Amino acid sequence: MQSIKGRPIRLLLSEEEIRRRVSQLAKEIEDYFKEPFLVVGLLKGAFVLTADLIREFSLPVQVDFMWVSSYGTSQESQGHVRIVKDLDRDIEGKRLLLVDDILDTGYTLQEVFRILQLKGAEEIKTCVLLDKKERRKVPFEADFVGFEVPNLFLVGYGLDWDEEGRHLRGIYAVE
Ligand code: 5GP
Ligand code: MG
Repeated sequence: MQSIKGRPIRLLLSEEEIRRRVSQLAKEIEDYFKEPFLVVGLLKGAFVLTADLIREFSLPVQVDFMWVSSYGTSQESQGHVRIVKDLDRDIEGKRLLLVDDILDTGYTLQEVFRILQLKGAEEIKTCVLLDKKERRKVPFEADFVGFEVPNLFLVGYGLDWDEEGRHLRGIYAVE
């Protein structure tokens, strides 16, 4: 039995399930964009998904990363994000795919979406590996979703628990 910080973790999605789904998602995304676009990954959680997605594309996409953290005192994000690391390049007039690990309350993606719009992106589509639909606090849905998941605390494939567990190849629920 694997564990993190002394707590057992249970496999929810295997490496192979994730690989198959990411490959399908990449096809759907390319069928939609049809021509090269910019991939914007959200650090840190989405770095693994971003790396896997871009290598499934046959289009020569560009990649940039943004790092935001939500502020407020509770553990849950609260609708305001602080930009820790901004994009390196101008996105004015660009078509882009915003990638995050998991869509939970929706605050983070809703806010980053708004920031990217203000920066002048021509079009923004969103992709998340995981969607905790029942947890939504704002009406935000992603355009491309890997898996709908139950309300459990998940780690692996880039998702951490206090910086641990990002390296795991599958997605695990912390028990
Ligand atoms: P939202 O703003 O949608 O509530 O938050 C999305 C962010 O919350 C994700 O990018 C992720 O950092 C974090 N998050 C939400 N649920 C989980 C979870 O089950 N495990 C981990 N590790 N992070 C989560
Ligand atoms: Mg995150």
